[in-house]
Amino acid sequence: MRGLDFPRAALPAPSSPDGKPLAGVRIALDPGHLGGRWAKLEARWFQIGDSLPVMEGELTLQVARRLADRLRDLGAERADLVREATEPTTPLRPSDLADHARQTLLDQGVRNPPNLYDGPFDPQRGISILWNAEVLFTRADIRARARRVNDTLRPDLVVCLHFNAEAWGDPAAPKLVPGNHLHLLVNGCYEPDEIARDDVRFELLLRLLARTGPEELAAAGPVAAALASATGLPAYRYTGPNALHVGDSPFVWARNLLANRLYGCPVVYCEPYVMNSPEVFVRVQAGDYEGTRDFGGVPRKSIVREYADAVADGLAAYYRARGSR
Ligand SMILES: [Zn+2]
Repeated sequence: MRGLDFPRAALPAPSSPDGKPLAGVRIALDPGHLGGRWAKLEARWFQIGDSLPVMEGELTLQVARRLADRLRDLGAERADLVREATEPTTPLRPSDLADHARQTLLDQGVRNPPNLYDGPFDPQRGISILWNAEVLFTRADIRARARRVNDTLRPDLVVCLHFNAEAWGDPAAPKLVPGNHLHLLVNGCYEPDEIARDDVRFELLLRLLARTGPEELAAAGPVAAALASATGLPAYRYTGPNALHVGDSPFVWARNLLANRLYGCPVVYCEPYVMNSPEVFVRVQAGDYEGTRDFGGVPRKSIVREYADAVADGLAAYYRARGSR
C-alpha cells in the first residue's frame, strides 16, 4: 500500500549485504477461504469415506503460517497473515444478510423465494435466501480482508494462497479426477458486464492509478517458476473468456477476482494443485511432516512445505533480481 504513493519498483532496492533479499519488504499472506466450521458453507470441503476431510481454507492457513516464517528468515520487514484463524474477518454472518439477499433476488425478479435449500443439488438453491446470503457473506469477508490489507497492514505485496480443484460432485462422495496443474493470477481481463458496474469501474481505476499491474506481473513470474520447479506441475490453460494469458510465463493469467481487485497493492494469486486429483489427495491425507516421504517412487516434502518453500524461493528470486539492478 506504500505502493499507492510510490510503486515498490520505483523505490531504491533494499540493500541486503547479509544475504537477506527481502530486507525492508512488507508482505501480507492471504490464506484463501475459511475452513473449519465454514468449509461446507463455502463449498471448500470434501471427504472420501473415513478420510480426513479436505478443506481448502485449512490447507491455505497451514501454508501461510509456514511461508510467513520463511519470509522472515529471508529478511522481510513484515510477513503478516490477513486471516490468522479458521474464522471470518467480517463481523457479519449469513443471517445478518438475509434481507439483503431477499432484495437481491427481488432485483432479479424472484418473488417469494424459499428461505432454505436442501444440499448442493437442490434446484431451488440458487433462488433461496439462505444460499444468496451465504454468497454475500463470503464476499463481505473478502471486503473485510481488503480493509485490513489497505488500512492496517499496508503491505508492499499480497500473496493470495489457494489450492485448485476440479468439480467433485457430491462433497460426501466426491469424484477424484486425473490431472493436476498450476497457474497464477494477476488482475485484469475485465468482462463487459463487470466494467458496466460502477463499483468495479471505480476499483479498476484505483488499481490503474496505483500502477500495481507491472509489478504484479513481474513478481508473479519468478513465483510461478519456483512453484513449477518444486511441484513439477504443468501449466493450466483457461479456455473461456474470463481469463487471459499475460506475460512470458506459461503459468500466469489475468483474471478479475474480488481479492485481486480490492487489495490496493500488487497481488500474486497462486492456484497450484488439484485437491481432488489422486496424487494431491494422498498427499493431503499424509498431512505435514519433516523431511521427505515416498509418493510413487518420488521423495516429496509435505505438500504444505513444498508450496510454502516454493513461494518463498520465488519471492527471494524476485527481490534478489531487483536488488541487483
Ligand atoms: Zn480457492
